[in-house]
Amino acid sequence: MSEQHPLSAAGRASTADLIVKLQASGLRTDIDVGARKGGAGPADAGMLWVNGAPATVPTTASYVSDSPYALRQEDDGFGIYLGEQRLADASLAPEPKFYRMRTADGVPYNQIALMHLDSLASTVLQTCTYWGNSDQCKFCGIGVSLEQGRTIAKKTPAMLAEVAVAAKELDGAVDATLTTGSTKTPDRGALYVGACGQAVKEASGLPVQVQFEPPSDLDVINRVHDMGIDSVGIHVETFDPRVLAEIAPGKAAWGIEAYFTAWERAVEVFGAGQVSTYVILGMGEDPKLTVDACRRAIDIGVYPFVVPLRPVPGSLMADLEPPTADYVEHINRQVVPYMLARGMSATGVMAGCARCQACSGMAALERSLGPVPAEGRPSLPLFV
Ligand code: SF4
Repeated sequence: MSEQHPLSAAGRASTADLIVKLQASGLRTDIDVGARKGGAGPADAGMLWVNGAPATVPTTASYVSDSPYALRQEDDGFGIYLGEQRLADASLAPEPKFYRMRTADGVPYNQIALMHLDSLASTVLQTCTYWGNSDQCKFCGIGVSLEQGRTIAKKTPAMLAEVAVAAKELDGAVDATLTTGSTKTPDRGALYVGACGQAVKEASGLPVQVQFEPPSDLDVINRVHDMGIDSVGIHVETFDPRVLAEIAPGKAAWGIEAYFTAWERAVEVFGAGQVSTYVILGMGEDPKLTVDACRRAIDIGVYPFVVPLRPVPGSLMADLEPPTADYVEHINRQVVPYMLARGMSATGVMAGCARCQACSGMAALERSLGPVPAEGRPSLPLFV
């Protein structure tokens, strides 16, 4: 579990700034920080706490060798350094105990689900109708870890429930995040990932987020809610239609308005703040259009989870680099205060990526802004 460090406002601000810089440049280290290659989610990322804040940061991509930031072991823990200057405390997650376990059928638990810091995560269907054809999302690595034999193609609800109980009891998992490749069926895989989430929740009691594409029948969203799921992720990835068509042609076929329509239904049943979307920065998007659309999403109760592109080895964007820290901060500074002023906060999200926050600099910035005063004015100067 994380060590919490009581930091001053200035300390919280510098932590927020550092996390964005680490996610842009990477962190040089020879220490095992739990990085994994390929796959969906925080692939090619070390997972650690920086001054008590969760963060996933690139550690193995080729551009990381040019990073000015390094992780060093100290007599009592770890520190993050810029040259000889010590910038922050770091603590690493121990290898989860459940990784040594297997099902009765002999399937290793860590081929069923993984710990992402304090969240249990799994891709329940490791196949996608878009993978390997012209519709494949260029940033995605869902087929990579399957090809490398590090996961199984289909996790059953019973398997996931068994692993979730172990992850909670042995390793302190606080929630479960379940995603799926998209299917050809009208529900796009939502009902299967929902059934997996239901099994996890019933067995372990953990709050669960499930993630899926907008179903063609919106009543599917109500059925997922009826399964007891706490939060949903319906991910548009980018609000720039030109970029979406180029980067994720399969998703672009639905059109961005289909996401807003699905979100409106999802907010009706899950509540404001329990519906989220990834917004990936650094794929050539128009920044003003991106900020405006993030604010439109917030206005209807959707949490825009803004993350820098993290090129996944084996994906079609493997050779790219993340966007600069200045660019990410410029966007975050226009989205996070707007969100806080409307009463939406990472702390209100029950489960999933927007609860964990390790892949984004948003929550660290939120903490640096401090409590939102009654008049809704954040305490740091904003970019507009
Ligand atoms: S829809 Fe796109 S991001 Fe999702 S699994 Fe399929 S290829 Fe990957």
